[in-house]
Amino acid sequence: MRRLAAALAARQTPDFEAWESLMLQAARQGGAGVLGSLLIHWQQHAPREVILCQCGQRMSSRGRRAKGLLTTLGRVPFGRAFYQCQQCHQGRFPDDERLDIVRTTYSPGVRRLMARAGSQSQFEQAAEDLSCYAGLKVQPREIERVAEAVGREVEQWLSDQQDQALQGVGTSPASPQPLPKFYISFDGTGIPVRKNELVGRRGKQTDGSARTREVKLGCVFTQVGLDKEGYPQRDPDSTTYVGAIESSTLFGWRMYAEALRRGLAQAQEVIVLTDGARYNRTIAQTHFPEAVHIVDLFHAYEHLTLIAQILWSQQAKAPQSWRDLLEAGNISRLLSKAGQQLPASGQSKKSLLKQLGYFANNAAQMRYAEYREKRLFVGSGVVEAGCRTVIGQRLKQSGMRWSVRGANAIIALRCCIFSGRFEDFWASRVS
Ligand SMILES: [Zn+2]
Repeated sequence: MRRLAAALAARQTPDFEAWESLMLQAARQGGAGVLGSLLIHWQQHAPREVILCQCGQRMSSRGRRAKGLLTTLGRVPFGRAFYQCQQCHQGRFPDDERLDIVRTTYSPGVRRLMARAGSQSQFEQAAEDLSCYAGLKVQPREIERVAEAVGREVEQWLSDQQDQALQGVGTSPASPQPLPKFYISFDGTGIPVRKNELVGRRGKQTDGSARTREVKLGCVFTQVGLDKEGYPQRDPDSTTYVGAIESSTLFGWRMYAEALRRGLAQAQEVIVLTDGARYNRTIAQTHFPEAVHIVDLFHAYEHLTLIAQILWSQQAKAPQSWRDLLEAGNISRLLSKAGQQLPASGQSKKSLLKQLGYFANNAAQMRYAEYREKRLFVGSGVVEAGCRTVIGQRLKQSGMRWSVRGANAIIALRCCIFSGRFEDFWASRVS
């Protein structure tokens, strides 16, 4: 090393960047050697255990097998004992199990980088990033495979925690202090999927076919008082996300479990924020019957504009008097005012009744004056931003066609990362 440094420094024009990358390469090579020795040392000194088969039989060693490992320091040769059951011929590599490298040649550190990179950008881009940032040469296909495998492990970890939360076991209070204002908000967003994932589904295309499947995304956050103007303020680090392409029933339980995990039981005031879609009301009524359910004010504005457009023209805006009634939460008056305009028949009557139905069905969740008085959020902006960042930025790019299985794995990964829990996931694998 020292001689190399002297030789490099003797050159007339310095090339700092080339020096850096040479040193980094040398440091990696040296580190890989030490890591290899560490593995051998660990194997030699680890206490010998009796290895049992799933069938209960004692397994016996069948000699050593080699496999190359790719680590964050580079390739490291690795050999370990293979055990087999004489009864049922099942095989096991106990050292692989202890090191968290079962059926993979990538170290946990490399898998973590692959999963993170693959969750952040398209797999081709991720491969370039890993090569550039970490000196790792891996194929895009491999990143896809590993990122999705890690995503499924994350989903399993999350679902175990959900089960625990639902059963109320192992749950020390999620928060030592009581949580004054506890928000639960959820929404859906479509992502493009492969044709075979759409068989028999009706969609929004002109011929009635579908191109997308809906990802349901939910978030939990808390409010920390008010800002200078007296508007509610979100605790910036408090937001966690859950999501999947799944039925609204399953999603309801997912959302409920996350709320429990976050301390629903200690919440002084629980608020559910949605866009007023029917299944959202069902989830709110089923899992959060005690909560104040608020329908997003901005969605309500949009529906008001739609009514104006049906009645008058594409460019029409809702009259100010209607908007005032909406903001006052006076939905019955709003309905009677807008209802006076109802045409006698035809398609526009049908569309109008549908829009009025939206207000009639959600009237109890539109008491906006009361919510303002209580200084509550009346917009579902947090979950909508989540739909764009957590889901859209990775899963809705042009030319993409997801399988539901692949998309759900990446969604699990991204929810975990955006909730600031990826570290916890890896820590949980060691214990
Ligand atoms: Zn066996």
